[in-house]
Order: sequence, then structure tokens, then C-alpha cells
Amino acid sequence: MNCNDCKNEMHHLFDNNADMLLTDKITQHIAGCKSCSAEFDEMKNVLAALHPKTKITAPFLLKQNIIKQLSKEEVMKSNTTKYVKFSPFIKRGLSVAAVVAAIILIIPFIGKNKSSNNTAKAAISIFESSINANELIKNMEIKFGVRTDPKDNFSLIGKEYNMVEHTIIKSFNKPEKWRIEKSGRVVLYDGMNQYLWMPETKEAIKGNANADFIGWFKIMLDPSSILWKEKENAENDGSKFSMSESKGKIFVAITSKAQGNFLNDYLKNTSIQQSDNRREYVFDNKTKLLKGLKVYLLENKTETLILNIENINYDINIEPTAFAITLPNGVQWQELNLNVANETFSNISSKRAAELIFEALSKKDFDSNKEVWTQYNFVSKKMLGDFYGGLQVIKIGEPFKSGIYPGEFVPYEIKLTNGNTKSFKLALRNDNPNKVWIVDGGL
Ligand SMILES: [Zn+2]
Repeated sequence: MNCNDCKNEMHHLFDNNADMLLTDKITQHIAGCKSCSAEFDEMKNVLAALHPKTKITAPFLLKQNIIKQLSKEEVMKSNTTKYVKFSPFIKRGLSVAAVVAAIILIIPFIGKNKSSNNTAKAAISIFESSINANELIKNMEIKFGVRTDPKDNFSLIGKEYNMVEHTIIKSFNKPEKWRIEKSGRVVLYDGMNQYLWMPETKEAIKGNANADFIGWFKIMLDPSSILWKEKENAENDGSKFSMSESKGKIFVAITSKAQGNFLNDYLKNTSIQQSDNRREYVFDNKTKLLKGLKVYLLENKTETLILNIENINYDINIEPTAFAITLPNGVQWQELNLNVANETFSNISSKRAAELIFEALSKKDFDSNKEVWTQYNFVSKKMLGDFYGGLQVIKIGEPFKSGIYPGEFVPYEIKLTNGNTKSFKLALRNDNPNKVWIVDGGL
């Protein structure tokens, strides 16, 4: 056996089911080779430096995600799916949390350093032993509160709002399905498409599987991959990430700066991503299941609890009807199709678009440039017409960008037919293939 083979194969020494002939060869080579022996010691140290706490158990889903993540990183050249048994010593010595921690520590070095790569292989081998089909989670229900407006986007937050009750239910059976609900909005994923239902305005929008209807909340849909996603985010955006273990629980805290451009801070503190915030997760150490999450908005020296998971239940009884939305008579799902074409509303500034939009509102004309109103259905257009019909523009201000919003905000001041004036900011976006400005909010 040469050094190269030895280094590639030495993770088998952590596998009780490994071929004895192979492990003997590895052991013999290590005994006579300084370099390989040093690498083996390093591997042992990484794995042993982790604190033993519990026996190896982890939900299947968590394991799946780690394997998926690792194969994405091209660590797993040979995919070993067989069960492996470890000596009681190693079982006692390594908790899954420790292995997860090890893999998290190792991931950043993969590709640069061959020995880390091999250590990761050893960690995977250990993780393989944690498969326990009985622990497969079938579904979950998360009850949480968010400071938000019940009728607005799921991602909207603000410390001035009261806590609004939210519920997520998710079925992990293939195809995976989920539903998130607050009093003024529901989003459902049926395994194919996302459906957004807003009862008050009777808007029923159908988007594809990747539609951004729930913003940051999507992280809660896969509690078993939170660690990965948050770690990855932290590496990309410079957030502070810490992980500790105590009394049967794993605590993970991430402190992030607001993302986006805040030359104009209009959107500052209006979503989790656009605020300085701290996210505190709690996982059960034994099962690795998410137990809690608190998100704090950090501003000056004050902290406001903005999101709080009150309750998580796994494997509850979910009625199949929970993953369907029955629309009232006369309402149909409207396909979210932003691939619109409209010459008048492309190649102009957002300010000019706003002028044309207020002109249309004044005339209750939603047909001449119907592409601009693709986000609104007939009920909403009727409401807009009733409210804005006959309006007079007092002033249209200079457009600006803020935070991570892809569009622009156009400040406006208008006079309504009832004599009231209204000043607000029209949200327009043209991040579609034909660069057509469409009304996105602010009315
Ligand atoms: Zn060697």
C-alpha cells in the first residue's frame, strides 16, 4: 500500500464492518510511515476533540441533508450507503452533534486540503451509523409569533407591530408539502406549485415551486438543514456564528448586519434580512430536532423580540385537506407571470411610470396597460378604482432604492376626491425580462 492509498482509505479504521484485510494493510502502513501516521493522528484528534455527550442517534432527514451537502461539495467520491457498526468506545466517544460540528468545521477546508477531506470521510462513516429509520419524521407543526401586519407580506416585520400568530405545517412524505398561515394570508405548497391566498382582497396567486411568497421564513421549513444554511450564510455575509451544547440542547446564535443598500433607509428594519438581528436556535441534542427560535431586532442599544417559536410538534395528525385551499365561488387562481411585455412601461424612468400610473388610477383605467397591474386581480382593481378614481397629483418625488428590494420607490403626494391628501411611496419593479415597470405596492 502506498501513502496515497493509505490516506484515502484510512477512514475505514473507524468502520467496524470494514474489510479486515484492508484495515490490516492500512494499520501496517501507518505503523511504518511517519506521514500517514501523522495524518491518522490528526484525523483521530479532530474526531476525538469533540465532546462526547449522547449515543449516536439522529433523524434520517438530518443525515440525508448532510450527505446531500457533502456530495455537493464533492467529498463523497464513493457513496457508501451500507450500515456500519462502531465499537462501543467510538459510540461513546462521539455524539452526532460532534460529528455535525466536525463536518461544519471541515467543510470550509474541503478541496484545499486532502487530509481534511479524508477526515470528512471518517465523519461521514460515523454519521452513516446513525441511520435509524424509526426516527424518520413524517410531519411537523410550528406555531410562532411575528411582529407584523397580518395582511401584508410574510417577510414584513416591524417593532411597532403586535405579535401575529403564524402556523407552519409540513409533511416530509414525498412529495413534500407545506402550508404557512396568518389571519390575512395563506401560502400553500402542494409539491408542485406555491399558492398565495389573500381572503380580504380575494387574490389567489399561483406561483412555481420557487416563488418567493414567504421570504426568510422558508428556513423553518427544513429544520434539519438550518445549521447548514445558517453556517453558509454566515460565511457569505460575515455574520457571527456560535454553537454550544448544554443540558441536552444545542444552542446556535447568529448575529447579522442588515443586508442591502441603506443610503436611503426606507426599508431598514422592515424584514429580518434588512435589519441588524440576532437569531437564537435551540435544537435537541439527542434527536437534533429544532426546539425553538427567537429572532431579535437590534437597534441602537435596544433589542426587540420580533419572531418567537412558541411550539413545535412532530408527527402529529394532519388532515389531507390541510394541503389544499378551497377558493370561494367566482375566484380562480391567477398565474404569477412576470414575463410581461409593454412598450409604454419599458425604457422609461420609474418616476415617469409613476406619473402614468396615477393618471390611470385617476381614470380608473386598468386596461390600457394591464401588464402594469399584473399583481392585482379584479377585486383589488375595483377597490383601487373606488379609492383613487378622480385623484389629482400634487407631487411626484425622486425615486430611490433601499435595502435588498430589486425595484424602486417613488414618493408621491396626491389629493383624493373626498378632499383628503395622501403621501406615500409607490413601489415599482422592472426586474422582468422586458424591463416593464409593474406596480408592486405602496398604494
Ligand atoms: Zn504513508
